[in-house]
Amino acid sequence: MSVLRSFDPATGDLVWEGEAAGADAVSAALLRARRAFPGWAALPLEARVAVVERYRAALETRKEPMAQMIARETGKPLWEARGEVASMIGKVGLSIAAQAERAGEKRSDMPFGQAVLRHRPHGVMAVLGPFNFPGHLPNGHIVPALLAGNTVVFKPSEMTPATGAAMAECWEEALGDRPGVFQCIQGARATGEALVAGAIDGLLFTGSAGAGTHFRRIFADRPDVILALELGGNNPLVAWDAAEVEEAAAVVVQSAFITTGQRCSCARRLIVPDSAFGTALVEAVAALAGRVTIGAWDETPEPWIGPLISEAAADGARARVDALVARGARTIKPFSAVEGRSAAFVTPAVLDVTGLFVPDEEIFAPVLQVSRVPDFDAALDAANNTRFGLSAGLLSADDALWDRFLRECRAGVVNRNRPTTGAAGSMPFGGLGESGNHRPSAYYAADYCAYPVASFEAPDAAGNGAALAGKLRP
Ligand code: NAD
Repeated sequence: MSVLRSFDPATGDLVWEGEAAGADAVSAALLRARRAFPGWAALPLEARVAVVERYRAALETRKEPMAQMIARETGKPLWEARGEVASMIGKVGLSIAAQAERAGEKRSDMPFGQAVLRHRPHGVMAVLGPFNFPGHLPNGHIVPALLAGNTVVFKPSEMTPATGAAMAECWEEALGDRPGVFQCIQGARATGEALVAGAIDGLLFTGSAGAGTHFRRIFADRPDVILALELGGNNPLVAWDAAEVEEAAAVVVQSAFITTGQRCSCARRLIVPDSAFGTALVEAVAALAGRVTIGAWDETPEPWIGPLISEAAADGARARVDALVARGARTIKPFSAVEGRSAAFVTPAVLDVTGLFVPDEEIFAPVLQVSRVPDFDAALDAANNTRFGLSAGLLSADDALWDRFLRECRAGVVNRNRPTTGAAGSMPFGGLGESGNHRPSAYYAADYCAYPVASFEAPDAAGNGAALAGKLRP
């Protein structure tokens, strides 16, 4: 038996301890999900809607303990964890609307019958979640998958099992006596591997690009399995002009450093004109980043950001920063430990990498790489110079530049004068290139949770003979 544990990254205190599911337990869970599928899929949609609404009610009654659990396990401040739980609750209404709008039934009259569009669930869906939004992101797959009539086996991140267990309690309460419709299994990579190797009809994955590439390869010969991959990015923010440098700097700092840089949509690269505005902006960003409050999730006054998820994550990010400096990056604001705190606490860093060849990779930490460019053409080239394409932003009051940015910048989320991390639940969320596989989530999750069935149908075969009349040999 292997034991899984999670820890509060601010203190190192144990948060959760339990058994990791081995291959046999994973197969048993998949079998239960397979058996539960036909009955769940055959229910009228209203019955499944009633279940997800009970799940929403269960979340509502637990919203404060759920937020505290997320905050303890991830290290994010309580204000942010509360926002995450609010998004989980909001997801239910959005998913019901999306299911009706994008995966509903449509009929149109044709000569001699009707064209009917219906959607059918795939079957057993595996959901693998990341640590950074351990409630909201898996929830964004699970709610639409269940609504559509799939059954779900969910493995939370090995860093956040307690949050997964708390979600599972809410589903238990909502589902009542429907074994196998939703199951949460705990474990690290090996458990995830057993799950994806098992008898599944879909893998709904939010996590790193490396894992996503691995899944694309291993599912190449399983075309029957639907893959929805929501991966990372190396997101550009082009800051071109602003009436108020301080306001622009606030957008940059929020884009790059919120959640201690642990959001997939965080800006990793700041592209500025090689001008007085560019210099002033970078100085303002570094100054503002130096004033960011950092602390444990439950401290008063509330910090803006917490620690990274683990000391290992801090070590990994530091090694990437050191490698950039070794390539010639100039440190504007260093990546430092925080005195008197666990080694998971780090300060936001700003590095100037202008003119350097730097790896096109996501540093999942508060590290912003600045490039100065001579003109807007060069800014667009720099923005698009990535194998990813998740989020991008433009800071400019110039409508013509925004039009051009929208046309030429390749990303799934493109924001103007707002942080790159801003996203509405009523919109799709997904990326191009190695950021995904063209199956955006959020409002469009309904699309990958069901497949369309197009029918041409009539109540009986009458009329078919007439269609042939005169064209048959006597
Ligand atoms: P991760 O890829 O390390 O892990 C995600 C989940 O997949 C975990 O449950 C893990 O156990 C499992 N897993 C990883 N490799 C596996 C394998 N080979 N086989 C089976 N299971 C495996 O990601 P993470 O570190 O938890 O999350 C951070 C990453 O997620 C970042 O790259 C971030 O950009 C990305 N992310 C993307 C989005 C999005 O919507 N596009 C949102 C949030 C996070």
